[in-house]
Amino acid sequence: MAAALVSIEEAREIVLSQCEVLAVQQVDIAEASGCVLAVDVVAPEDVPPFANSAVDGYAIIAADLETGQCELPVVAEVAAGAVTDRVLGRGEAIRIMTGAPVPVGADAVVMVENTERLDGGSSVRITATAAPGQAIRLAGDDIAAGTTVFTAGTFIRPAVAGVLASVNSRSVAVVPRARVAVLSTGDELIDDGGPLAPGQIRESNKTMLVGLVGDAGAIAVDLGVVRDDEAALEATLRRAADMCDAIVTSGGVSMGDYDVVKAVLSRIAVMHWMQIAIKPAKPFAFGLITNSAGRQIPVFGLPGNPVSSLVSFELLARPALRHIMGHAAPLMRPSVLAVADTALRRSPDGKVHYQRVHGGFAGDGRYHVSSGGPQGSHQLAATALANALAELPDGNGVVAGGDVTVYVLAF
Ligand code: AMP
Ligand code: MG
Repeated sequence: MAAALVSIEEAREIVLSQCEVLAVQQVDIAEASGCVLAVDVVAPEDVPPFANSAVDGYAIIAADLETGQCELPVVAEVAAGAVTDRVLGRGEAIRIMTGAPVPVGADAVVMVENTERLDGGSSVRITATAAPGQAIRLAGDDIAAGTTVFTAGTFIRPAVAGVLASVNSRSVAVVPRARVAVLSTGDELIDDGGPLAPGQIRESNKTMLVGLVGDAGAIAVDLGVVRDDEAALEATLRRAADMCDAIVTSGGVSMGDYDVVKAVLSRIAVMHWMQIAIKPAKPFAFGLITNSAGRQIPVFGLPGNPVSSLVSFELLARPALRHIMGHAAPLMRPSVLAVADTALRRSPDGKVHYQRVHGGFAGDGRYHVSSGGPQGSHQLAATALANALAELPDGNGVVAGGDVTVYVLAF
């Protein structure tokens, strides 16, 4: 008897509930981008550390300009990285560069564009008025010492890494990026560029999945194509479990006689063999392999049909990889209630369909989608150019002009 279908939500719940967040590591700031911060970060010092000029120009006393005095002797010069011990007095100016400390006595800076150099630079004519504080960036203006700049769980985008550097966090505690082994299985697959012998096809899933793993923020480890041979597959899976934090396989999880992934994983891992009520990507396997250090490594057995592999990765493996890398919900791609510009037809079959569509925001502010073309699970070319997955509940689909929930893969 065929196993009962599970819903995509149940399947995702089974997966997420068994995937543990990776152990926290202390990493150098240069490696922190792309990781999730594991601790709160408190600034030990002010940023900027001292009051400094926002422009190239002249440090002055604003009140001097109010009295109509606009020609001032230039009594010193201060560049970024330097300091001057000359205290600015009434009726004087100090030439100052962007980022240089504001001299004691000055309360404003006039930008060079509003000045004229006189007498070879020994004095200056100011051609604008100034308000106190003008063009001065105060100490702590960006971050005051003692402020919690980021809380645990923050994704370290490049600008976040920049801020960490600005508060002297040279090394940070993060949930690391996962190392994810990717392998394809199948006697028919070739990837050496040679001619196709009868019955052979060119491998495509591994190439795609390596990219998808990287796109999910993890580090792909390409373990190549493994033949439909139990011993070879077991050796590769055990090696993967020792080297990596997760494993993604493609092929061999259906009902075929040569589905060796099924045979091997049933033996060496604790598995959930699922038939999910979705199309494409009905067969899916998830389980845990205990590696030689006693650690449990999640393994995602994706179906071999290329489109199914992609959809299965998006709906199940990607959220799980993001979960183990410390990302908070939502783990899925952003979803939006879109307008279907073309009908997205389907027939009732008890499954949720994920049709590949082309989408984009239109002048009405709404996200609009149209069919991405052929929807066969072997037709990767049409899917490759689609940038969203339309979620069609069981039924007859969506008429042109109707609303449809889509997951946006790329904007
Ligand atoms: P399987 O899941 O192994 O039964 O494979 C289902 C279909 O996907 C078959 O037509 C396979 O030839 C094809 N397939 C499996 N793995 C790959 C791959 N890595 N690249 C391209 N096609 C594949
Ligand atoms: Mg196969």
